Amino acid sequence: MRENPVVWLEDVSKGDISLVGGKGANLGEITKLGIPVPPAFIVTSHSYLHFLERPGLIQKIRRTLETLDINQNTQLQEASSQIKESIISAPMPSSIDEAIRKAYHRLGRGLVAVRSSATAEDLPEASFAGQQRTFLNIEGEDRVVAAVQECWASLFEPRAIFYRVQHGFDDLKVGIAVPVQRMVQAEISGVLFTAEPVSGNREQICIEAIYGLGEAVVSGEVTPDRYIVDKRELTILHKMVVKQEQKLVKNPQADGSTRECNVWVALSSREQKKQTLPDEEIIALARIGKKIERHYGSPQDIEWARENDKFYIVQTRPITTLKEAVDVEEEEVKAPLLLSGSAATPGVGSGPVTIVRNISEMDRIKEGNVLVAEMTSPDFVPAMKRAAAIVTDKGGVTSHAAIVSRELGKPCVVGTEVATQTLEDGQLVTVVVKLDGSPGRVYEGRVAVDKEEAEFLGEDVRTLTKVLVNLADPDLAEEMASRDVDGVGLLRAEFIVAHIGEHPRYMLDHGRGAEFVEKLTEGITKFARAFHPRPVVYRTNDFKTNEYRNLKGGEAYEEVEENPMLGYRGCSRYINDRDVFKLEIETIKRVRERYKNLWVMLPFVRTVGELAQAKEILQEEGLRSSQDFKLWMMVEVPSNVILLDDFIDVGLDGISIGSNDLTQLTLGVDRDNSRLAELFDERNDAVLWSLERVISIAKRRGITYSICGQAPSFYPELTAKLVEWGVTSVSVSPDMINRTRQIMAEVERRLGKVPI
Ligand code: PEP
Ligand code: MG
Repeated sequence: MRENPVVWLEDVSKGDISLVGGKGANLGEITKLGIPVPPAFIVTSHSYLHFLERPGLIQKIRRTLETLDINQNTQLQEASSQIKESIISAPMPSSIDEAIRKAYHRLGRGLVAVRSSATAEDLPEASFAGQQRTFLNIEGEDRVVAAVQECWASLFEPRAIFYRVQHGFDDLKVGIAVPVQRMVQAEISGVLFTAEPVSGNREQICIEAIYGLGEAVVSGEVTPDRYIVDKRELTILHKMVVKQEQKLVKNPQADGSTRECNVWVALSSREQKKQTLPDEEIIALARIGKKIERHYGSPQDIEWARENDKFYIVQTRPITTLKEAVDVEEEEVKAPLLLSGSAATPGVGSGPVTIVRNISEMDRIKEGNVLVAEMTSPDFVPAMKRAAAIVTDKGGVTSHAAIVSRELGKPCVVGTEVATQTLEDGQLVTVVVKLDGSPGRVYEGRVAVDKEEAEFLGEDVRTLTKVLVNLADPDLAEEMASRDVDGVGLLRAEFIVAHIGEHPRYMLDHGRGAEFVEKLTEGITKFARAFHPRPVVYRTNDFKTNEYRNLKGGEAYEEVEENPMLGYRGCSRYINDRDVFKLEIETIKRVRERYKNLWVMLPFVRTVGELAQAKEILQEEGLRSSQDFKLWMMVEVPSNVILLDDFIDVGLDGISIGSNDLTQLTLGVDRDNSRLAELFDERNDAVLWSLERVISIAKRRGITYSICGQAPSFYPELTAKLVEWGVTSVSVSPDMINRTRQIMAEVERRLGKVPI
């Protein structure tokens, strides 16, 4: 089989990933189970490697790669285009060419989908996710052959090259297989999740269904019906029937020479209101899903279509988004419950308690301790990194402890009120946190809890909406840059400044401004270098006075404020203490000498006048909007929402919603107040109203609009809403990267926004 340039779906199984890619192997596997899959053949990865042996081709690719500096974006783009062009224009070896044509005939000719799938097993899938192309409704043998070559070429998209070079993988040893599958012209289609994707409930199956093609390219009007089925009993628990006015079908006039070959057709008024899938078909489909899941032993995300009253499965892959769900019910844990509080970071961590009452005690935290404190502040971060879990008396889910633990991936419970009083130094405890709305819990002793560690194995999860990541710790930059993210949407400066440890004004006054710049440059460069050429949005320092006071020398410069959240912070400081602001600007310019992907975002801007003044300072210092420099403003004060048009008039390239502060100020709830934690909810209608308004204004004004508050990291359903409203990007904590991408993909698919 290995010698054949193409193989048939029924001849492959899940062990053949290196030959036919994950997609082909999975479909082959379920074909054997008797699950109906549209017939397909796969151009093997060996064919691709054989093709590379065309005279001069490998040498040409190698030459281009050898002289390439992947950190130079233009060079990278050019190299990518050159290599892709060489692959597309090289003649197809006749043995492969003939085999494809023959197989296409045997498939019955007609319309096919040509997909691609990288096969390198030793590379993280994330590095390839979304890189390779898919062509739908291809017809004619010449076009099929050409599409195969285009899929091969897509292995050399700029980001894929960047990743491989950076990690020392040989570009020319990575294989790619190309499944060619008969197109299903679906009268009804949709997705099926063998676990409820938002709550992570594994007892349920969730089916979404629409009339017409699921691959709709035109966006907009279609919201699917949604059915929830009890997995064990196969009974319908819940149905949400949505009125669908029109459906997308293949254009009967299309001749296969163009990809725009679908048309909208109106549905009759009777059809519009009808439940898309009848009850018995919902059950039949759920049964297929259950069978596939049982075979793989893990929850699956399945694409299906119904053609001529028959169901077809067109793709199955593991659900990658249930990662955070910790599979434990309260009653399953037999150990005594000591405490509970707000669930900040999901996970399970055990260890001896160490209570820290002030900063001088920080060294007492040893590797694997459970850090217990009234609240954390930036000075706690090194100790938080050593901790197995973190528990605080105070704070809500957007407090310092919550944000930092989320970035570091440490299980964290905040706002217990009494942890520092009820727990004892040295006491062995287990912290268990789920993100399903239940409280975070602290149990006595070491409790064994199964953690769900579903790994990200999905392929080709591409989205039009960008996934960005919120970061602060330079030590995480490299690792995070290798993940499936489109950049850093919020680089919080505070972590690096806390690490420097001295008040910048104090350093300036002692003639050590340059040293501050030096150290800040070192920290920021780590991000800009790791993510290059993807953007890194640096949010200028938003320390509050209490945080500044904790820095060496800070007490002399900072007043004790009753309410630092509403005090001397954000943009006001840049205007009133220009010299300190200039140190940050100087740093940004220094980093940008080498890495132009560093942009700037201003936090906590109270008035339009403040924005104008801060912008003027930036311009005077030479930071002007251009092709490669963008200025963003955070929208986190209600005045930003109310007067957004006026703020944009000052001149902004983008905005990013700081939902933590915006919620605090819209609802009048101090985000650090644990007593009010329940009231702090970004899903409140007043906050949602603001989000929708901001997005629609920014959209109308043609600027980038993102969100970087914690909200989408806690409430995936909010991400779905934001994507529906058309947000450009969503910036989340590292643990939510994959889940967010998946949610976006689901919503975009539902909206018919299919990335090509
Ligand atoms: C916000 O307010 O939403 C935000 C992202 O900024 P921070 O949490 O750092 O105040
Ligand atoms: Mg903020």
